[in-house]
Amino acid sequence: MSALLKTVEPLLQQTEHAFVSVNGCTFLLLAAPYTQMAQPPEGYAFIDRYYVASNRIYFVKKQLAAALQNAGFETLDCPYPYKHLAAAAGFGVPLRSTLIAHKKYGTRFAMEVLGVRGVYADALDEAVLKEHPPVHPFCERCGKCLAACPQKALSKAGIEPQKCTRSLQEKCEFPTAQSSRNMGANLWGCDLCQRVCPLNAKLPETPMTDEEKALFSFDALLAAFTAGKKGLAPYREILGGNYLRPVKLLSLLFRVIANSEQADRYRGAALPFLAHSDERLSAAASELKGKS
Ligand code: SF4
Ligand code: SF4
Repeated sequence: MSALLKTVEPLLQQTEHAFVSVNGCTFLLLAAPYTQMAQPPEGYAFIDRYYVASNRIYFVKKQLAAALQNAGFETLDCPYPYKHLAAAAGFGVPLRSTLIAHKKYGTRFAMEVLGVRGVYADALDEAVLKEHPPVHPFCERCGKCLAACPQKALSKAGIEPQKCTRSLQEKCEFPTAQSSRNMGANLWGCDLCQRVCPLNAKLPETPMTDEEKALFSFDALLAAFTAGKKGLAPYREILGGNYLRPVKLLSLLFRVIANSEQADRYRGAALPFLAHSDERLSAAASELKGKS
């Protein structure tokens, strides 16, 4: 363990972590905590700070894998559901909202797992990872996330991912006008179920920083998303490279603006896209135009 620790410790700053061994491999569970942004003021969109934490922990994992390989360790991906591993290792507790709550950070963390061949930590029985872990007992008498979800994606049976706003944003397809309205100001991410969760009650939400304000105003987003790849560059560390798709982001922005009190001001911005060849964008432009 000492050689493994010596290799990884310098890279574990500002992360929560735990080690556990299963079936001849050791898994390093990593969590990057974050402080959520409060609901944005009028004229600004919400982009979930989770994605910044998620990018950060993804790169920490990559750095750890490279350092371990350089030190002669064999690394591997985790074959188990993260939630199952986290629950069995005591790293987090599964919730009704289908997320995991960490004892210190509630659901406000992004998680990654890196495997290393060899046994360097207390061993878990692989059989426990095959079963779905029970939800936190607190959830049995709470249910606030179920009531808060505007998409009715959550139930006692779990989540219907295809209904969740996150999936609709991902595909940029909104089956009903109401599903688009349910997005509210949430350009990327939703967070309604996490905001109401009592297990996050002690974690502060903070207002947009000046830097976020400069990037998340409707004007700034519109300018960036209509300027091609160059315009998207300042959003790379926030959204991650995979999500920098101008057509998709502009479509989501039109829908967010249509949901706001500012729709009238932006009608003109939608007009050039009404006949766009990408139906996601033309439909979103039409949604905004119709709201004026
Ligand atoms: S993220 Fe939003 S849409 Fe998805 S389950 Fe939570 S509240 Fe519902
Ligand atoms: S809101 Fe209540 S039911 Fe939902 S995950 Fe949090 S504690 Fe569990």
